[in-house]
Amino acid sequence: MRTSRTPVIGCCLSVILLAGSGCAELPFGGFPVLVKRTQMHMGTLVSITAVGANDEVANDAINAGFQEIRRLERLLSTWIADSELSRVNASAGVKPVQVSPETLAVVRRSLQVAEMTGGAFNIALGPAIDAWNISAEPRLPSVSELESLKPLLDLRAVRVDVRERTIYLEKTGMRIDVGGIGKGYAADQAVMALKKAGAMAGVVALSGDIKTFGKLPGGKTFPVAIQHPRREGQVLVFIDLQDEAISTAGDYERFFEQDGVRYHHILDPVTLQPARGCQSVSVVARDGVLADGLDTGIFVMGPTRGMELVEHLEDVEAVIVDQAGEVHVSSGLKKRVRFPSDSPEKGQAQGSK
Ligand code: AMP
Ligand code: MG
Repeated sequence: MRTSRTPVIGCCLSVILLAGSGCAELPFGGFPVLVKRTQMHMGTLVSITAVGANDEVANDAINAGFQEIRRLERLLSTWIADSELSRVNASAGVKPVQVSPETLAVVRRSLQVAEMTGGAFNIALGPAIDAWNISAEPRLPSVSELESLKPLLDLRAVRVDVRERTIYLEKTGMRIDVGGIGKGYAADQAVMALKKAGAMAGVVALSGDIKTFGKLPGGKTFPVAIQHPRREGQVLVFIDLQDEAISTAGDYERFFEQDGVRYHHILDPVTLQPARGCQSVSVVARDGVLADGLDTGIFVMGPTRGMELVEHLEDVEAVIVDQAGEVHVSSGLKKRVRFPSDSPEKGQAQGSK
């Protein structure tokens, strides 16, 4: 996946984990502990919180989680020249490349999300993402340059052979980029590693992609805050999660401004320009991979079609801030979100669909 290596003009966390601690005695005596650690991976801040029977269990679980994320980065990052995805991209138009079950799974889930979102989510956008280069050295590509890339962005030319475990990009110059879904997948996989290492609850947060499991030691669910897309450092809404993931896509995360226009990192596959319908989209789902793929796809679809899709899907909810700053909360979340007491958006949740 593309992850930023150099700072860009706008870049901030879109979801903030607010995990505190409480105390409830374990059935076999003693108290569970909560440990949280943060490291840089996939070009972003990753924090892992684990609840364990003691310090050692919690720390071992956190180590296992970070190790899993590092392993996935080596498979999926297009910044690493010999990652599996880089090898798939380098062999475009030449030959299929055999990949790990994990890389295959991310690409297959990406194609599913592409179908769910009517092509708004498109991992074949690699050449257009590179042309804008928002994560490293942003530039404004010309309309003709973008037009010339369009034949390369054809998802039907992404061939996945499940039996052979290969991926083949049929056209020379094609490149796939899983930056819009890979962090959610990594959060899911890291949670599995935490559980396997004995954690009884925890949270994996890769910037705005968060996956939770279990409850805090005091029995409470994990509280998270969604960042306000236009007021830096301020909370849009609070929400409690249990065995759920949340993922946010925002036009404030990576962007530059030229002549008063904001150019950000989420591209509309039809125009190859930054999508204009939303300021931010937060999706709550069981799996991080689905939440992450959908936040990007729904951002492109825009608030109306995007919310229609959310209402149609089981176990998927969303908070969408449209271009005018209006907040739309899906029916299943209306009773769950809490606006800060001084929020000007307070009251919109009940009124909006
Ligand atoms: P997210 O923050 O999850 O929305 O992911 C943003 C990243 O997804 C970008 O930095 C690109 O790497 C990638 N991307 C941008 N536009 C799209 C799109 N329409 N479909 C799939 N991936 C995209
Ligand atoms: Mg995403």
